[in-house]
Amino acid sequence: MAIVIDGNKIAQDIRNEVRQSVLNFKMEKGFVPGLAVILVGDDHASKIYVGKKKQDCAEVGFLSREYKLSAETSEEKLVSIIRELNNDKLIHGILVQLPVPKHIRPDNIIEAIDPHKDVDGFHPYNVGRLVAGRPCHPSCTPYGIMELFDRSGIELSGKEAVVVGRSNIVGKPMSFMLLSRNATVTICHTKTKDLAAVTRRADILVAAAGRAQMIKGDMVKDGVVVVDVGTNRLDDGKLVGDVDFAAVSEKASYITPVPGGVGPMTRAILLKNTLNAALAY
Ligand code: NDP
Repeated sequence: MAIVIDGNKIAQDIRNEVRQSVLNFKMEKGFVPGLAVILVGDDHASKIYVGKKKQDCAEVGFLSREYKLSAETSEEKLVSIIRELNNDKLIHGILVQLPVPKHIRPDNIIEAIDPHKDVDGFHPYNVGRLVAGRPCHPSCTPYGIMELFDRSGIELSGKEAVVVGRSNIVGKPMSFMLLSRNATVTICHTKTKDLAAVTRRADILVAAAGRAQMIKGDMVKDGVVVVDVGTNRLDDGKLVGDVDFAAVSEKASYITPVPGGVGPMTRAILLKNTLNAALAY
């Protein structure tokens, strides 16, 4: 039976560390790190995420600024707000909550953010530096997963790692982070032939496909470490991951739950990235 990795607890540890660093930072510099969060439109889930980020900022002692813009806001207007924030000395991190309305091109928005304030780690500057193994703001979700591995004492070097999903915000950066720690990495996607044959090889399996409970018990080997990134709503409203938790946890050595695994880590790393941006300012 697998050990269930407690993402809520590890995220709380990280928030405590950030809060302590903010106290030291404030004593030294006389101000606190600042995070600006921009929400365009009124997507229900996005509103909840933004609210939680504000709460997190208050907990660790950050300045937080929230911009709630109407769904009709033009791309030019959004870019002009970002440019102002790029020059704002009190703001060290800028986050535009995705998805943005269809008439706004997300790539243009991400690239308008000063890479040093891109605490989501989505700007090509940060992605490129991640791939090159240079210091950067790493994408929050995969970096949060690396913290889960490290703080649970899970060895990565020499392991067969399989990542299901190749998105720019999860699958690809996850793969490079695992590679940088000497795992042998395979990336799977919708064109992968015989997915189960690949996932069965995994010592470390990261499921980030956004398909409810697609990783079944017979798709993993005994002793695998399983990280479930997926967040999927079933028809009855229940939140589930990409992994069939009951069956897979019978075989895994470690597993992350949904909720309470990766999700809280993504938020905690956002705080860590913002603190690092302020320290480097
Ligand atoms: P995307 O939809 O951008 O990417 C999904 C990826 O999974 C694609 O590369 C796709 O392949 C692949 N995929 C989909 N179905 C299959 C399949 N049946 N077999 C193999 N590969 C498949 O999603 P994201 O990366 O943004 O997010 C993935 C999941 O993680 C979602 O549920 C999302 O909600 C969740 N998430 C959770 C976070 C958290 O903090 N907990 C943070 C970010 C995401 P292809 O490229 O071929 O289309």
